[in-house]
Amino acid sequence: MSEKGLTTITLKKINRSKVYQYIYRNRQTSKMQIVQDLQMGLSTVSQNLNLLEKEGLIDRNGYFDSTGGRKAQAIQIVADFRISIGIGILKNMFHITAIDLYGNAFYTDTIPLPYSNTEDYYKKLTDKIRGFIAEHHYDEQKILGISIATQGITSPDNSTVIYGNIMNNTGMCLEDFSRHLPYPCHLEHDSKSAAFLELWNHPELDSAVVFLLNRNLGGAIITDHRIHQGSSMHSGTLEHMCMDPDGPLCYCGNHGCLETYCSANSLEQSAGMPVKEFFPLLREKKSPRLTSLWEDYLRHLAFAMRNLNLIVDAPIIISGYLAPYFTEEDINQLLEHINSSSPFPIGKSQILVGTHGQYTPAIGAALFYVDQFIRSV
Ligand SMILES: [Zn+2]
Repeated sequence: MSEKGLTTITLKKINRSKVYQYIYRNRQTSKMQIVQDLQMGLSTVSQNLNLLEKEGLIDRNGYFDSTGGRKAQAIQIVADFRISIGIGILKNMFHITAIDLYGNAFYTDTIPLPYSNTEDYYKKLTDKIRGFIAEHHYDEQKILGISIATQGITSPDNSTVIYGNIMNNTGMCLEDFSRHLPYPCHLEHDSKSAAFLELWNHPELDSAVVFLLNRNLGGAIITDHRIHQGSSMHSGTLEHMCMDPDGPLCYCGNHGCLETYCSANSLEQSAGMPVKEFFPLLREKKSPRLTSLWEDYLRHLAFAMRNLNLIVDAPIIISGYLAPYFTEEDINQLLEHINSSSPFPIGKSQILVGTHGQYTPAIGAALFYVDQFIRSV
């Protein structure tokens, strides 16, 4: 092939990609808008639209309101052209979700299954995933992959869990899952998956500190629009920040880690009831014991936020299981604690609250394949 031929093909691919990405970003657009904004010739745009439509990547449905003359056709991507499956593994259950190309979780479920690092467990889990796909009649060709979020820090190549003290899953391998699944598979630390979802929802953020308020606490640092991994993959593990060296014993073997004060588990333990019962009772404001417990929780959380904000001067994201329970009053209390002791006060707009609750890691994990796909078109 001549050099010129190669260049033409590359250029065609770039134009196709540009048009698709443009439609994806704008969600709904018209041919003339694309011509204008991408400064591309009308015939080039038409050609690419025909190509993308033929491939099934976009469709033209409906019309924009006309201001005279012919009505413009509305163009959008086909959001379920491909889907991604996310899994969030916990000690006694796992979460499963299916998301479209915009990251919308159109299915979520929690399935009880006690974890054990055995072949029997991996077989059962992957059987349930295959059953889920069959039951919902998801076209196999449509599935980009299965992405698994687990508690525990993974190796830099995401092939193995290298620190898994919570679930006792050190040594868990991607292979344990992938050998049973006829799809591409990916494994990641659940805190990083959650942070990826928050970053996806806030593309404007350059940096952030993510507090993942799950049954076990997690965290992540976002800098330069990316999740900071660190030299040995443990950047952002704020759950083991020491609040009091004489405090309660943490699963990591040390005392007084933030985990022992601010995880959903620690809250349930001190309240003596599940989170689902705790919050409705707390909000009734009839129990001084629960009110004081929650105040204590917020005080510890604010202390960690205050200190981390000095290291990473950026918005703080409250994410995960407990996030949807936070009220405006809670945020105000956090701010009051933070600002009463920090030389650099932070504003209300600097605290963001995630909305996906306990499914955050599973949805975030699934985004791995969506992100890869969108970039590849
Ligand atoms: Zn610890």
